[in-house]
Amino acid sequence: MIVIGGGLAGLAAGVALAETGWRVRLFEQRPFLGGRATSYVLPSGEHVDNCQHVTLGCCTNLEDFYRRVGSSNKIKYFDRLVFVDPQGRRGEMHAGILPAPFHMAGSFAMFAPLTLMDKLSIARAMLDILRAKGHPSDLDDQPPISMLNWLLRRRQTKGAIERFWRVVLVSALDEELDRTDARFGVDVFWKAFLSNRTGYRIGVPTVPLADLYDGCKSAIEQKGGEVTLRAPVRGIAIENGEVTGVRFDDAKMESADAYVFALPHATFSELLPDAVRESVAAFSNLGKIKDAPITGVHFWFDRQVMDEPFVTLLDTNTQWIFNKTMLYADALDQKNPPVASNAPKSNEQYLQMVISASYDLIPKSRQEIIDLVLKEVRQVLPKSREAQLVKATVIKETAATFSPEPGVDRWRPPQKSPVTKMFLAGDWTATGWPATMEGAVRSGYLAAEAALSGAGEPQRFLQPDLPPDGFM
Ligand SMILES: Cc1cc2nc3c(=O)[nH]c(=O)nc-3n(C[C@H](O)[C@H](O)[C@H](O)COP(=O)(O)OP(=O)(O)OC[C@H]3O[C@@H](n4cnc5c(N)ncnc54)[C@H](O)[C@@H]3O)c2cc1C
Repeated sequence: MIVIGGGLAGLAAGVALAETGWRVRLFEQRPFLGGRATSYVLPSGEHVDNCQHVTLGCCTNLEDFYRRVGSSNKIKYFDRLVFVDPQGRRGEMHAGILPAPFHMAGSFAMFAPLTLMDKLSIARAMLDILRAKGHPSDLDDQPPISMLNWLLRRRQTKGAIERFWRVVLVSALDEELDRTDARFGVDVFWKAFLSNRTGYRIGVPTVPLADLYDGCKSAIEQKGGEVTLRAPVRGIAIENGEVTGVRFDDAKMESADAYVFALPHATFSELLPDAVRESVAAFSNLGKIKDAPITGVHFWFDRQVMDEPFVTLLDTNTQWIFNKTMLYADALDQKNPPVASNAPKSNEQYLQMVISASYDLIPKSRQEIIDLVLKEVRQVLPKSREAQLVKATVIKETAATFSPEPGVDRWRPPQKSPVTKMFLAGDWTATGWPATMEGAVRSGYLAAEAALSGAGEPQRFLQPDLPPDGFM
């Protein structure tokens, strides 16, 4: 079995297949694993995440993958979400003693940044989702409706849209509400906030992202497989509707019984022979899947400026601030700290800010982005006003995720492709999930299941969703 691509989708497929005894050969073009959800060392010596990544309690397949590769203890779950606005007003969301779906009701009722009218309109929309068990009938409208239209139909107040729905969904789905399929938006609230008490808990890595994949190589190699880095695939050979091999530099060919292509959709499409791309509908439509950007901004201050592990910002360009120094401290307490260079120098504090759907920032210069974000950080973190910014880095990912625009699911191909021996994985394939680490792992598991079924050895890797609990 050949797996191309060492992002989460390829790793999930490779590890699952290796566990069943297949000899997996995984090829990755970069010198490290993890794809978009990874970390690397900058020329200045700092080890940074490509961007902060978080998971949620409802991401059951990602949790299963971390367990398989021995990384579960590198994720810390938080059950308190803190929101701050530029005036310094704070709000908190957490589960109380009530059973689902009312577990957040207490903190929601006390949530200062929303007015009573905002809260009543949100409660009405939530009731609608609850009554329909997560699938209100207008999600099946043709053409599919946007999340913004879905909210307007439910007469949501401006405050509710801007300070609640938009805050949660732009971060979760990396797209503006008017460009998001309502199905994805409603699903976030059903799976993370309503159907189970633990679905909303935020899991944050306590190590740089690349360290989460330490166990993947050995999981594959222990079963006789290989992981080859710096090995970009340059072409896919297809004859009579069957993959016959993959081409590397110097015209080197590798072949196998089956192939999992776990590449970004644009790369996969470019590697296909023209005739195949144009004649197979599942491939010719890939160009219709659009990209959405995320910008990550990294600041090192000369002193401690933040006391929480992370906060969500309201009414600003900056959406999240993560206190990386505090988050990594857990791992540094362990006997073998994963990366010594992450130890905070003297009293420095390292923060990482995230701006999803950052279309407006893409044309801006690095310095303009730093100035904008610094101003907003200083508004919400009073201690940073006196502090000196020692270093700053901006990482713009123009193709961070696929855009979950209305109807995008019709362009997402299933993992079993129409070409013999070819299986597809990647967050963009048909998983029902948006572009997330959970979606990527699901796609990898589904591709592994399809490959095993094709070989007459069916097996199941996909994990069930969290079961509804409480009154659900
Ligand atoms: C800035 C940013 C922030 C994000 N935040 C979150 C978050 O908080 N939570 C969340 O769940 N998700 C988040 N995501 C989304 C998440 O990272 C992706 O959904 C997931 O990592 C996709 O995994 P994948 O394996 O499908 O694709 P990729 O990670 O893109 O993997 C594809 C792999 O193929 C390799 N490759 C490409 N071309 C070739 C070639 N020719 N030959 C060999 N190998 C090749 C690439 O190097 C890469 O390793 C974020 C993404 C970004 C970019």
